[in-house]
Amino acid sequence: MKKLKVELGRYSYEIRVGSGLLARIGLWLKERGFSGKTVIITDTTIEGLYVDDLERGLANTGFDVTILKVPTGEENKTLETAGRLYDDLTEAYAERSTPVLALGGGVIGDLAGFVAATYMRGVPLVQVPTTLLAQVDSSIGGKTAVDHGQLKNIIGVFYQPIMVVADIDTLPTLPEIELANGLAEVIKSAAIGNRNLFNFLDINMNKALEYHPSVLETIVVETARIKAGIVEKDEREAGLRVILNYGHTIGHALEAVSGFRLKHGQAVAIGMMVEAEISSRMGILDGSEVAKLEGIIGKAGLPTEVPDTDKGAIMEAMRHDKKVLQDKVRFVLLRAIGNAFVSDEVDPSLVEEVLVGRG
Ligand code: ADP
Ligand code: ZN
Repeated sequence: MKKLKVELGRYSYEIRVGSGLLARIGLWLKERGFSGKTVIITDTTIEGLYVDDLERGLANTGFDVTILKVPTGEENKTLETAGRLYDDLTEAYAERSTPVLALGGGVIGDLAGFVAATYMRGVPLVQVPTTLLAQVDSSIGGKTAVDHGQLKNIIGVFYQPIMVVADIDTLPTLPEIELANGLAEVIKSAAIGNRNLFNFLDINMNKALEYHPSVLETIVVETARIKAGIVEKDEREAGLRVILNYGHTIGHALEAVSGFRLKHGQAVAIGMMVEAEISSRMGILDGSEVAKLEGIIGKAGLPTEVPDTDKGAIMEAMRHDKKVLQDKVRFVLLRAIGNAFVSDEVDPSLVEEVLVGRG
């Protein structure tokens, strides 16, 4: 097992990555002084796969476990579902000191995180991510949220977990498309902050796609390390943390315009290509770096071309991006692979030109 620390003063916590970890969480909570009740929040897909291991470990260390299930799917990441979970928590007599364990992908992490952050003004939260995307990205950094109407993650709070446990043994059951979805964020993190990881991916992408355990473990540890390092410096996304949104200005717009048929990782993959090309056309990034990026995104089985949709609609969708500051759309640009910065100086006509060129 590898341990990483997220240093946030009194809100610091550890990320544990490795095999066979689900069964050990009970013991770790007991060591931290918890006892009595715990609540697992999960979805109906993961329930049949991984709840037993987690529950058994908790029960064996003397915890009284309540399991709350949410139907699988982003469409359930709503205030309504949160409301049902509050009912269930009250019914289970969950207390202020009752740990809530979010077992699942990003949807469960965001939803259960939001519920844990708000129930009784906050109960201890343990993130137990089971998708690659959640292990390397969404479980780290304390973002919690629900969707509202057409808007994703628009209601939420920053709330740091007390522990993140990424058990690599949960990854082999992930559908290929979900694995690729996570790899997009891995490539993103490497592109903004770690050229060594980028080279590792270049060599090991096929093994990753075959769910090779030690390759996946390295990927999770190194990507989590990048995210943790950035979150430590900018917990509330006031500055530096924005660079984690590389590929996302375009990506979020593409997702919205596709009516969310395009998966997040696919949209971000295309977004990374567009934003790299913008960097190159502005004379900041060498063309050979754009080609390297295209190579690795392709190896991961992710798209690199802009779908045949109305470019004006993409431009319009960008204006709703959460990164928009005083009406200026912000982009994360690359100087090189491993070196990113934030800019609000990108000419909209260049953006449109690149979108058309990549279409
Ligand atoms: P993300 O982390 O990409 O936001 P979601 O929470 O939307 O992912 O989960 C994607 C899908 O994968 C959901 O249907 C979820 O139930 C399922 N899932 C999550 N973890 C696993 C796993 N380890 N094995 C199989 N399916 C999983
Ligand atoms: Zn993302």
